[in-house]
Amino acid sequence: MTAHRLCGPDLAGLRVRPHETFRYRAGQYTALESARLPHTWRPYYLAGWPGRDGELEFHVRCTGPGGVSEALVRHTAVGDRIRLGPPRETWHSARSRRANSGWWPGTRAGPR
Ligand SMILES: Cc1cc2nc3c(=O)[nH]c(=O)nc-3n(C[C@H](O)[C@H](O)[C@H](O)COP(=O)(O)OP(=O)(O)OC[C@H]3O[C@@H](n4cnc5c(N)ncnc54)[C@H](O)[C@@H]3O)c2cc1C
Repeated sequence: MTAHRLCGPDLAGLRVRPHETFRYRAGQYTALESARLPHTWRPYYLAGWPGRDGELEFHVRCTGPGGVSEALVRHTAVGDRIRLGPPRETWHSARSRRANSGWWPGTRAGPR
């Protein structure tokens, strides 16, 4: 983790630098695991585009005690390691992307 910014009592902006190039599209999310809660993964949206340095940003709201969100918001600091899953997409954002690109199974692409 390269930055940890509290934006209120329950909300934190986290920046992380993956070991490998992490390619993703707008609207995608990934699973995060904190070393404080091994084997417990939660999905979080990637905030914005990857920086030139390849860093990723997450905005996490602590929903209560004992969970991954509390570990990330209250008990994680610059220099800590967290684990990242692969980028994933919700059905809704995949559908919007395909609609915007004009591609959708069973439809004709391009102007009619
Ligand atoms: C597609 C998607 C994207 C999301 N994006 C975001 C986002 O960008 N930002 C955001 O803030 N949230 C996001 N969420 C919600 C996020 O994934 C979590 O659900 C939320 O942070 C709460 O997780 P939690 O582990 O803190 O609490 P919960 O999952 O609600 O856990 C409840 C309680 O169970 C107990 N518990 C859970 N696991 C364990 C364990 N292994 N051992 C002991 N006790 C345990 C703890 O007491 C915990 O407080 C997203 C969800 C989805 C589905």
